[in-house]
Amino acid sequence: MAIEKIQAIRGMSDMLPEDAPLWHFFEKEASSLAKLYGYQHIRTPIVEQTRLFKRGIGEVTDIVEKEMYSFVDSLNGDELSLRPENTASVVRACIEHNLLYEGPKRLWYMGPMFRHERPQRGRYRQFHQFGMEAMGFKGPDTDAEQLLMLNRLWKRLGIAPVRLELNCLGQLEDRKAYREVLIQYFEAHKDILDEDASRRLYSNPLRILDTKNPDMQDLVNNAPKLYDSLGEESKQFLADLEAILKAEGIDYVVNPRLVRGLDYYNLTVFEWVTDKLGAQGTICGGGRYDPLIGMLGGRDAPACGFAMGIERVLELMKECGVKPESRECDVYVVWDKALYLNALSAAERLRDADIATIIHSGSMKFGNQMKRADASGALYALVIGADEAAAGKVGLKALRENLEGYGEQKTLTIDEAVSLLGQHV
Ligand code: ATP
Ligand code: MG
Repeated sequence: MAIEKIQAIRGMSDMLPEDAPLWHFFEKEASSLAKLYGYQHIRTPIVEQTRLFKRGIGEVTDIVEKEMYSFVDSLNGDELSLRPENTASVVRACIEHNLLYEGPKRLWYMGPMFRHERPQRGRYRQFHQFGMEAMGFKGPDTDAEQLLMLNRLWKRLGIAPVRLELNCLGQLEDRKAYREVLIQYFEAHKDILDEDASRRLYSNPLRILDTKNPDMQDLVNNAPKLYDSLGEESKQFLADLEAILKAEGIDYVVNPRLVRGLDYYNLTVFEWVTDKLGAQGTICGGGRYDPLIGMLGGRDAPACGFAMGIERVLELMKECGVKPESRECDVYVVWDKALYLNALSAAERLRDADIATIIHSGSMKFGNQMKRADASGALYALVIGADEAAAGKVGLKALRENLEGYGEQKTLTIDEAVSLLGQHV
C-alpha cells in the first residue's frame, strides 16, 4: 500500500536551499543597517493573547476582522493568536519589561507573521517581516531616520529606486473632524459604495479611501482631502519631515489617499511601492503611532516604525537580477581509496582556518568526484592522491576560470595550501 505524502499548509512555504543565499543576503544587509543606525534587536513570541491584537491593531481592521489565526488552547482555554504583525507584541514587551524606563529605545525585529489571506503572488499565510520601532521619539527626525535607512537598504539590496509615498494623518482630533466630512460625502454617494465600503461607512470611513475596487476610484479620488482638515501643528510636522527628506535628496510623493487603515496611526504614514511586482507592489509600510503605547496600558510615549514584507523584497531582488554568490563550500576534497583519514585531517585543517570544506562522501571514481566538486560550486578541489600522500603533500586545483592557475594542479604541503587558500576564499 502506498504511503500518503503529507504536504505543507497552503500559503505557507518552505525556504529551499536555492533561495537561501538571497535570504541570507537580505538578512545580513537588513540587520547590519539596523545596527548602523543604532537599533537593537528584539524577538517576541509567535503566539500572543488574542486580545493584544484586538486592542493593538483595532477590531475594525482587515487583519482582526478576517485574517487572524485565532484558536482556543484546548489544554487551558486561553484565547490565542499567531501574530499577524509585530508592532503590538513589541509594544507589549516594552511595557512588560519597562524598557522605556531609562529613556527612548530603538528596536528592530525579523521573523514570521501569519494572516489567513487568499494565497497569491506576494501574499502568503505565513510570511516574514523585517521592521523597526523607535519608541519614545517625537519626530520628525526619527521618522526621517527610518526613511533614510530604508532608502539606503534598497540601494544595498540592488532594488533602488523604490517609490516613497507619504501622507500625514494628523492627530486624532483632526481625523475626527475629517471623519465627519468624509461620512457626509460618502452618504451622498451611497449607491456607488461596495459591500466593504458600506460596512465601513460608520466604523472606519477612512479605510474606504484605500479601496482597490475600480468602480469606486472616481468616488475616492474626488473625496475631500484629509490635508484640509489638518491642524497647523500637523501641517508643520509634515513640512518639517519633507524638509529633511529634501535636504538628504530622498525622492517622495505625497499621496493624500494613503491612510493605512489602523486606528492608532497619527501624523506620518508611508509606503514604499514598486511597479515591478503587479498587484502586491507595496514592499514596506509604516508611520507614527503615538497613541498605541498608552492604549496598551503603558505610559504615553510617541513612537514610529515600519514593517517590510521580506518575500516581496526578495521577489523584487530576483526581478532586478540580484544574484548573491552561492556555493556549497569553498573547497571540495577528493580522495583516493584508503586515504580517507588523510582527507579528513586535511579538511579539518582547512576548517581550522575558516575555509568551508566538503569531503567527498562515499566511494566513487576520481573523475566523478571531480564532477561533484565542480557542481558544488567550490572554488578549489583539494586532491588527496596516493602519490601526493606518499610525498607528504596535497594537490590543489583551481576550479574557476577567474582564479590564478585555473585548470592546473599544484602540489603543495598542507600548510602552503592553507595559506594560498586563505588569500583566495
Ligand atoms: P496589503 O495592503 O498588501 O494587504 P497591509 O497593509 O496588510 O498590506 P502591513 O500590515 O502594513 O500590510 O504589512 C507591512 C508589509 O508586510 C506589507 O507592505 C507587505 O509588504 C507585507 N505583507 C503584508 N501582508 C502580507 C502577506 N499576506 N504576504 C506577504 N507579505 C505581506
Ligand atoms: Mg493586508
